[in-house]
Amino acid sequence: MSIRDNLAAVGGDIARAAERAGRAPEDVRLIAVAKTKPQSAVVEALQAGQMIFGENRVQESQGKYPDLRADWPDIELHLIGPLQTNKTRDAMALFDVIHTVDRPKLVRALAREAQALGRCPSLLIQVNTGEEEQKAGVLPADTEALVALVRAEGLPLQGLMCIPPVEDAPSGHFAFLKRMADDLGLAWVSMGMSGDYPAAVELGATHIRVGSAIFGAR
Ligand SMILES: *Cc1c(COP(=O)(O)O)cnc(C)c1O
Repeated sequence: MSIRDNLAAVGGDIARAAERAGRAPEDVRLIAVAKTKPQSAVVEALQAGQMIFGENRVQESQGKYPDLRADWPDIELHLIGPLQTNKTRDAMALFDVIHTVDRPKLVRALAREAQALGRCPSLLIQVNTGEEEQKAGVLPADTEALVALVRAEGLPLQGLMCIPPVEDAPSGHFAFLKRMADDLGLAWVSMGMSGDYPAAVELGATHIRVGSAIFGAR
C-alpha cells in the first residue's frame, strides 16, 4: 500500500466513524505524524493532498519542513512531542499548533516569546489522563489551574490532548478528555492514534494523530 492508499483508507475510516457518531467528517482534522520518516515521505503525502503534519522533535522538523513550505505554503505543522523551555522560540517559529503544554514554566516561556514574536501558535494542554509516573502531561486535578494560567497570559488556548496508557482500553480516556474539554469551554480535543482513531472520532476527537497507518511502521 502506498502513502496515498493509506491516506485514503484512513479517510474512509474517519468518515465511517463520524457517521456512526452523527458527526460531520470535516470536523475531524487528520494529522499525519511523520516523525522519523524522511522528507520524501512527507512529499508523497503532500502530493496526495495531505497538508497537516505532526512531529515530535523540533530539530528534526527544522530539517524537514522549511524548504517544503516554499512549494506548499498551506502546510500546517503540529508539535505533538514534549517541548523543553530552551526550544520554545524555535518551536514557535516553526509550528502552527503545539499540543504539549503541560507546566507553568513552559506557559511562562511561551508567553515571553509570544510577546517578542508578536504571535503565538494555537495551544493545547496535554493531560496525563492515566496519571502515569513517567509520562508527560498535567495531572487531571491540576488541569483547570493550568488552563487558567494560559488564559491569564492571554495565549490562544484551543483544547486538550492525551495519550492513554498502552495497557488501558483507550475509550475511557477519550470520553474523559472530551468531557474535561467541554467543562473547560475548550473546542479542540486531540486524541486517537493508528491503533484507536476510529474510537477517538466516535468519542469527539477534533484532531487525530496518525503515523504508522499512513507512513508504515517506524
Ligand atoms: C508517534 C505519535 C503518534 C502516532 O502514533 P502511531 O501509532 O504511529 O499512529 C501520535 N501521537 C503522539 C504523541 C506520538 O508521539
